[in-house]
Amino acid sequence: MPRPIQATIHTEALRHNLMRVRQSAPDARVWAVVKANAYGHGLARVFEGLRGADGFALLDLNEAAVLRELGWRGPILLLEGVFEQRDLELCSRLGLWHTVHCNAQIDMLATHKTHVPHRIFLKLNSGMNRLGFAPTQFRAAWARLNVLPQVEEISLLTHFSDADGGSGIAPQLSVFNHITQDLLGERSLSNSAAILRHMGGNEASLSSDWIRPGVVLYGASPDHPEHSAADWGLQPAMSLRSRIVATQTLAVGDTVGYGSTYQAPVAMRIGVVACGYADGYMRSSAPQGTPVLVNGVRTRSVGRVSMDLMTVDLTPVPDADIGSEVTLWGSSSSGVLLPIDEVAAAGGTIGYELMCALAQRVPVTVE
Ligand SMILES: *Cc1c(COP(=O)(O)O)cnc(C)c1O
Repeated sequence: MPRPIQATIHTEALRHNLMRVRQSAPDARVWAVVKANAYGHGLARVFEGLRGADGFALLDLNEAAVLRELGWRGPILLLEGVFEQRDLELCSRLGLWHTVHCNAQIDMLATHKTHVPHRIFLKLNSGMNRLGFAPTQFRAAWARLNVLPQVEEISLLTHFSDADGGSGIAPQLSVFNHITQDLLGERSLSNSAAILRHMGGNEASLSSDWIRPGVVLYGASPDHPEHSAADWGLQPAMSLRSRIVATQTLAVGDTVGYGSTYQAPVAMRIGVVACGYADGYMRSSAPQGTPVLVNGVRTRSVGRVSMDLMTVDLTPVPDADIGSEVTLWGSSSSGVLLPIDEVAAAGGTIGYELMCALAQRVPVTVE
């Protein structure tokens, strides 16, 4: 028997979450963001669930090629554009739309030989200060692109730094609207948090032609802990499940694992689970451990997570034994939910990082 850990991708949940996004932004076209191998889920594995999107957005040319091999003929957007001149040849060949965020990319485009002009998303740095033209340089970049024979159409893109809280999107939206007000072209503004928190209601000025949901599609909340995935009506697209491979009975004062960081305050049973940081689980956790489900019952990890194993408190699940199912995140096979956002928070990180970190060695099934 193989090691019992397994991830399951839920195709119906992906479809549901895409529909949920469309409810929030009924007039927008949807780029399903599938960068980082579909946030760790696997590009080929999510394709069926997300093919109802209007396009796919990602960073990696190889992943774009995979999408074409899967038979996707619709739009594909490179969110960071090209990294070197010859990437443009692949853009021409595969019909990729690409972001232009700096002058070096315009230089490459200007010397690119192509029969098919490209669809460009010109990126404004409206305050995130990562990628994009500064407001003072944006219009010059637009004018440069506008006269290139290599360019078919220019759309306008920016990215929000605080859509999930903090100062919100208003300051950046106002910069974007000011700089682009008289420029024609489609707009692409909103990530998951902006879609859920700022569309479909009060901020009507957020007119967005192309929205860019990522993490919501996979069923995690972009603004946990303010809102849970359930608050937003999302369903987990991945479950990570394993089994108990050994149990131990601890006497008062016994310790568990490397560094003996956990000491039993009373006599108790613990389960040893086939999951460790080499599977992508977090090694660090809050002193009270991370939440897990054993046979669908909520309990928590005790002691340090090691490379291949972790240990969990079986006190709330007296009938648990070797072979009992352990859900690390997602849903148990009986349907009990354990949100990835809660697990991540207990390890001092976010659901995004946890799902992207799923290790290569974990077998994945699609259902
Ligand atoms: C990753 C990414 C997104 C999606 O972000 P989520 O928070 O996962 O919705 C949108 N736009 C750009 C430019 C990105 O890099």
